[in-house]
This record gives sequence, C-alpha cells and structure tokens, in this order.
Amino acid sequence: MTKITLPEFCADKILVLGSTGSIGKQTLEVCKDEEFIEIVGLSCSSNIELLVKQAIEFDVKFLAVCDANLKNHTSLAQLEDDVKVFFGQDAVLQLLQAVDFDVCVNALSGCAGLEPSYECLKLGKKLALANKESLVVAGDILIPLSQKMAGKNTDVFFPNISDFLGNIIPIDSEHSAIYQCLLGYDLDTLKNIWLTASGGPFRGDEYCAADFENITPQQALAHPTWNMGAKISVDSATMMNKGLEVIEACHLFHVSSDKIKVLIHPQSIVHSMVEFVDGAYLAQLGAPSMTTPIAFAIHLATTDYKNAPRFYDNSHALDFYEILQLNFGRPDLEKFECLKIALEVAKTGKCAPAIMNAANEIAVAKFLAGECKFSDIARIVEKSLSYLPIRDYASLEEILDIDKSTREYASKLEISS
Ligand code: NDP
Ligand code: MG
Repeated sequence: MTKITLPEFCADKILVLGSTGSIGKQTLEVCKDEEFIEIVGLSCSSNIELLVKQAIEFDVKFLAVCDANLKNHTSLAQLEDDVKVFFGQDAVLQLLQAVDFDVCVNALSGCAGLEPSYECLKLGKKLALANKESLVVAGDILIPLSQKMAGKNTDVFFPNISDFLGNIIPIDSEHSAIYQCLLGYDLDTLKNIWLTASGGPFRGDEYCAADFENITPQQALAHPTWNMGAKISVDSATMMNKGLEVIEACHLFHVSSDKIKVLIHPQSIVHSMVEFVDGAYLAQLGAPSMTTPIAFAIHLATTDYKNAPRFYDNSHALDFYEILQLNFGRPDLEKFECLKIALEVAKTGKCAPAIMNAANEIAVAKFLAGECKFSDIARIVEKSLSYLPIRDYASLEEILDIDKSTREYASKLEISS
C-alpha cells in the first residue's frame, strides 16, 4: 500500500457501535492502518466472542454487550482486568456516557440505533451514521439537535451541506455519494437527487410479484452486489431499503421526496447523482465496497481538512476498460410494494415513517424466522400504517412510544396473503 501523507488529526478517539456487524467490521478494517486513530469503545448484541477478539486486537477498554445473559461468558476471561464491559438493553447508552470519544460510528441495525444517535448528538460529538433507521424514524429531531450542538442557529438555513448537517456525516453509500457531490455547492441549487438502487436479487424478469409468496430467506439474503447484514439484505430484496433511503435523503439533504428519483442501476457503480438547477449532474462512482464511504466519513469527522478527505488507500478499483455497460431504469412499483408504500409514507411524513420502520423490522424478523412469507412483509407494514394513528411527534420519548406500540401491533398480526 502507498503511504499517503495525512493532514493533522484534530480528533482521534472513535467509538464503534455494532462493531461485530458488516459495517462495524469494515470500520475496524479502515481504522487498522491509521496510526492516529484510537478505538475507544466497541459494542455487539450477542456476538461476544468476536467482540472480545476485536477488543484485544485494538486494545479497547470499554465494551457494551446487549444480551445480559452473557455476563459470565467464558471468552470474557481473555480480557485485561482494566476492561469495563456493560451488559443489557442500556449497555450502549452507558458506553456512550462512560467513554471519552470524539466520533461515534453508529453501525447498529434497526431502530435500536436511534437512542445512541440521539445521545451522541446530545453530547455534541460527531456522528458517522450508517444506521439509516435513526433518521427515518426521528430525522425531524436529530437534524436540528445536530445543528444546535454544532453551534448553529437552527432558525437559519445553512446552504453548505457540512454546516447544514452539523455533527452528522452519512455512511450509507448513496448518501455519502450525494454528500460528496454536494461539497462546494449550495443546497438550494439542488434540483433533484437520483438515488441509485441495485434492485436486489429479485429485480429481473425471472421473478414476478406472484413469486414473492415462495421466496425463502436464503434467496432473499443472496444480494447480487453487496455483502451486508441480514436485515438490510432482506430490505434490499423487498426494496424497502430504497424507501428508507428516500426518507433518509429527505432529512439529510433538506429536500422533499418528490425531488428524489429512485433509479435502478444493477451494476452498483454509480452510487447516486445530484442534478443542479443549471442542468449539471454530478455523480460519485466506485466499486461496490463500503470501505470508501466509511473512510470518507471517518476522515471527515477526525480531521479539520477542508476539502473532501481522500486519503484512504483503497484496494477496490474499477477497470473502465472492462465495464461494458452502465444500465439505468425505473423501479417496478407494482412488484416492489414495499417501495411503493415507503414513497407514500415519505410524502405523509409525521410519524408514518416510524410506524413503517417498526412494522418492517417485525415483519423482516418474522420472515427470517420462517413465521411469515416474503410477500407478507408488505402486508404487515400496510396494515400497521392503516391501523395506527399518523400524528406529529415532538420528542424522542413520543417517537419511541410509537415504535413500541407498532411493534406490539405488528407482532400480533396474523397475515395470510
Ligand atoms: P449487521 O446486522 O451486520 O450488524 C449489526 C450490528 O449491530 C452488530 O454488531 C449487532 O451485534 C448489533 N446489533 C444488532 N441488533 C442490535 C440491538 N438490538 N441492540 C444493539 N446492538 C445490536 O448490520 P449491518 O452492518 O449490515 O448494518 C448496520 C447499519 O448500517 C444498518 O442500519 C444498515 O441499514 C446500515 N447500512 C449497512 C450497509 C452494509 O453494507 N452492511 C450499507 C449501508 C447502510 P451482533 O453481531 O452481536 O448481532
Ligand atoms: Mg445504501
């Protein structure tokens, strides 16, 4: 690897939430060769063996394990006596409060990431955010909080993307792409966002809507271009993931959902595009690897480098002599009902995204456990949205209540498509 000369780091203590997952592991991979970066905290839900291995490799003194039943797990004996491990549902929040950190990488999966995002922003720390569900569920709270804690007046509109987002830096590849394209341009010159989507494993003609009855978890988990955790893989297969990303983009880039065009792009090379009012389009391209957006977010958060921080020496290269085609197309909303529902929900706003997200999490867990069909995921989300009241929310507590009651409702639903 070529050694790249780095600018001065102004922050270097990184906390990685969900370090045992797909994004978490890649974050540690990115940080491994970075002598200025210190990993100060790690967390997992139950994969304690990997967590302990990571803690030893990176000499980490603070850990969180959500599964309280693992308090006496044998692997803990490998840790030094000065390592503090928090256990239980509040373990991640305790970790955030106990550790002295500069940047939190939130790579938790699902709405479990919301409270940690909120806590991190409340502490006035940088949040490198992979956990899109945080923004989907409570973007109206998180963005103003981030601006306020970064010292911005929330009554003033900041057209510069880094000023607008305060302490939040997106990791999701499409949103990182859009962020990169927007650097140096005013948000109010943005006309449309072209949000690309691989289309998942069922995009082709070989699958029609009727086939969704019989899709197995194994088929849904086999994503053609990305290697990701189970929940997001199923979301990609239903295309709910793209729906969540439309809502995520509305919050991150201060646009209404009608300005976000979902664009099927099977090669996953163009990670998204922005269209400006003067007719110029900018795109960010790259191999389908999350290390580029992760490194970009971490370097943006840890340095006060003013330009786009491109100093991660990534081995994932594109050979344009070999890429014969880049294809684009419209999503099939009749086949991918979850995307259709999510686009409606993006327009509705209020607490509808929180209800949709909670119902979807329950439905995906049921599908993976063999308790419902792939086609039932859309049914469960739809029924939850029509049963539960759509109202405004003003606080984190309110939105967490809505999340909880939706989960209770969706868990009890008996669906037979
Ligand atoms: P994974 O399922 O691979 O990892 C999730 C991590 O969070 C694991 O460390 C897991 O611990 C932990 N975790 C899971 N549930 C809980 C919980 N209830 N409480 C506390 N910790 C929990 O997910 P991904 O890495 O794929 O995704 C993480 C986030 O990043 C998601 O929001 C996803 O949408 C987003 N994202 C992911 C991309 C990817 O390429 N993977 C791309 C873009 C965005 P354990 O290992 O013990 O289960
Ligand atoms: Mg994405």
